[in-house]
Amino acid sequence: MKKAKITLQRKRLNNEQIGCYFSDEDNYLRNMSTVLSKEQLRGIANEYGTPVYVYHAEKITGQYQKLQQAFRQTNTRFFYACKALTNINILRHIHSLGCHIDCSSINEVHLALRAGFEKENILYTSNGIAFSEIEEAVSLGVNVNIDSLSNLEKFGKKYGHSYPAGIRLRPNIMAGGHLKISTGHEKSKFGIPIEQLDKILALVDQYHLHICGLHVHTGSEIKDVAVFMQVADIFFDLVPYFKELQFLDLGGGFKVPYHEQETGTDMPLLGQKLAEVIQKLKDTYHRDFQAWFEPGKYLVSECGYFITEVTVLKQSSSTTFAGVNSGFNHLIRPMFYEAYHRIENISNPNAPKQPYTVTGNICETDTFATDRLINQIREGDLLVFYNAGAYGFEMGSNYNSRFKPAQVLVKDGRAQLIGRRDVFEDLLRNQVEP
Ligand SMILES: *Cc1c(COP(=O)(O)O)cnc(C)c1O
Repeated sequence: MKKAKITLQRKRLNNEQIGCYFSDEDNYLRNMSTVLSKEQLRGIANEYGTPVYVYHAEKITGQYQKLQQAFRQTNTRFFYACKALTNINILRHIHSLGCHIDCSSINEVHLALRAGFEKENILYTSNGIAFSEIEEAVSLGVNVNIDSLSNLEKFGKKYGHSYPAGIRLRPNIMAGGHLKISTGHEKSKFGIPIEQLDKILALVDQYHLHICGLHVHTGSEIKDVAVFMQVADIFFDLVPYFKELQFLDLGGGFKVPYHEQETGTDMPLLGQKLAEVIQKLKDTYHRDFQAWFEPGKYLVSECGYFITEVTVLKQSSSTTFAGVNSGFNHLIRPMFYEAYHRIENISNPNAPKQPYTVTGNICETDTFATDRLINQIREGDLLVFYNAGAYGFEMGSNYNSRFKPAQVLVKDGRAQLIGRRDVFEDLLRNQVEP
C-alpha cells in the first residue's frame, strides 16, 4: 500500500512523464484492467450470493489519476465527496491514493478520521445543519464550508478571526442531470444566495471573519465545462472582497457516462480552462489560488457493479416483466432521478436481445428500466447494473423489511467481502420491545 502511494506521488511530481504515460489513455486503461469481466462478476455472485454490490479499486485509482492528469497545470486539491460511497475500505483506498475527503455530515467526518484522513485534509461542507455540528467540526480541526448567514453569524460570534472558514454560495445557475440533483439554482436551499453578498460582507466585517475560501457546488452530472467557468467568473468578481482567500472550491458534479452513447465532462478541457482562469486571477489581482474540487460520482460511479438475480418472468400484453431480487431499497436512482443504468444479462450474454421491463420485488412501482433490450432472460439469470458505485448501496434502505445487500471489493485481482449482507437480527437491532 505504502509503495503505491509513493509511486503516485512521484508521478505527480513529474508532470511531463505523466503526459507520456497517459498519451494513449485507452491503452493505459486497458493495461490497468479497470473493468471487471462478466466471468469475474458471475464468479463473485456464485461465491457471495445476490444481490451484491461489487467495487473495483483499480477503477477508482484510474479515475483519480485522470483527475490529476487533467488538472496538473494548477495547484489543485481533490476532496472525495464521500456521501457517494462510505464503506470504510473504499475510504481507506481513496486515502491511500493521496486524495482528500469532503463530508456532508459530522458522522462522515468521524468516518473519515477513522479511515485515516488527516484533519487538514478533511472538508466539512454542511447544509442546513445545527451550529453544534460546526462546533464539533471545529473542535476536530477540520476545514468547514458554511452555507447560511445564520450559521455564519454564530460562527463569527464564537470564533471571530481565530478559525478560518469557507463560504458556500448559491450562484443562481441552473445545471445538472435532474432537478433533484441541481443545487445552484435560484430556488435551491443550498448555499448563501449570491445576492446577499452585502450581508455576508457585513458579518465578515463585524466579526473579523477569516474567510479562506469560496465554495459553489452547482449540482451533479454537469457535463458542460461552461457551467464551471460561469462559477469561476463569479469567483473572479468576488475575489477583491475577501482579503484572506486561499482557495476557490468548485464543488463536484463531474458527469460520468451512464448511457452507452453518453460522454462525460471533458476533464482535460476543464483542466485547461481552469488553468487559464487561475492565471487570469494572478495577472489581475496578483494573488495565487488553489482550486478545490469535490468529486463523488467521478471517482466511484464506474467502479461499481450491482448484481441481481431474476426471480420471476411475467408476460403481459405490452411487455415482458423481468422481476429481480432487489428494488429501490437497494438502488433508488432509476426511480428517484429517472436515472439510466446499463443492464446486462451476464448469464446468457450471447442470446438474441428482446425488450424487457426490469422491476423489483418491493410493494411500490420500482421500475429499473422499461422495454430495455437485453439478451434473452431466463428465471435465475444474473442481471448486472453498471455504474452502480455512487449513490447505490449508500442510498439503500430496509424498506419492506428486506436485507441490505453484501458488498465486495476487488483489489489486486482479489475479491474480498467488505460489507456482509443483513441477517434477520439486523432488522430488529434498534427496535425496543418493552
Ligand atoms: C454531493 C456533493 C458533491 C459530489 O457530487 P458528485 O455529483 O457525486 O460529484 C460535491 N460537493 C458537495 C457539497 C456535495 O454535496
